[in-house]
Amino acid sequence: WSTDTLAVVTGSSKGIGLEIVQQLAKQGLTIVLTSRDQARGQEVVASLQTEGLNVVFHQLDIVDPKSVALFSKWIGEQYGGIDILVNNAGVNFNTGSSNSVEYAETVIQTNYYGTKRMTEYMLPLMKPSSASARVLNVSSRLGRLNGRHNKIGDELLRNQLEDDEHLTEELIDTTVQSFMEQIREGTWVSGGWPQIFTDYSVSKLAVNAYTRFLARRLSDRPEGHKIYVNCYCPGWVKTDMTG
Ligand code: NDP
Repeated sequence: WSTDTLAVVTGSSKGIGLEIVQQLAKQGLTIVLTSRDQARGQEVVASLQTEGLNVVFHQLDIVDPKSVALFSKWIGEQYGGIDILVNNAGVNFNTGSSNSVEYAETVIQTNYYGTKRMTEYMLPLMKPSSASARVLNVSSRLGRLNGRHNKIGDELLRNQLEDDEHLTEELIDTTVQSFMEQIREGTWVSGGWPQIFTDYSVSKLAVNAYTRFLARRLSDRPEGHKIYVNCYCPGWVKTDMTG
């Protein structure tokens, strides 16, 4: 790795994102640490820089289209392109007793639509001949299609979401939108979703499906121009999210 290799990590002023920044920076890469909170992000970056790590800061809220647009403009002007995008930013309110329709909206908007927005803005900025070009989505085992929290009652839908060859972005969006409509109307159980509030699991289910869809969409890029697309579950980690 060299300092010419540039990685962007979303939501990285704390928790798993911060750990990813530190581990990548220790391997010699240049990292853009991003945070919604400018002051906190700058403070964390200043402390990493005193350790000799190549880390720079830029503000980023993945839910705010303006913030994402400004960020990508800055990347283009400052660096010309990136090698690695780690979509780590996420929220989860299902861990406590504070579930609500409003929280569910935030979770879906952040974890799924925010991740997708960032990816679509960053893909054109992926350096064309980077050997390390990759998108890594931090997901969760809770998003598995047949997991306890996601046992979708609608078998046809489940099969469609599992069918990599025919999976479309429209199907993923429609699934998420109809889940949200049912949450708003209070009909998600008759809609085939589990009783307990599962917006976090559904958001990660959508991230997993989008990751597989994107990997296929990008798969015909020629050798030397490949972009690797993966998602993974970090396992249970003690952070602010999990308390
Ligand atoms: P934290 O709450 O510690 O960190 C989440 C990060 O996401 C924060 O930096 C937060 O920024 C940022 N974030 C939230 N909303 C936005 C937004 N709209 N725009 C930009 N950044 C945002 O949680 P974790 O470190 O635990 O979580 C990191 C990822 O790992 C998440 O995607 C989570 O779903 C996943 N994960 C975590 C597990 C765990 O056990 N902890 C298990 C499985 C998956 P801010 O400080 O501004 O709120």
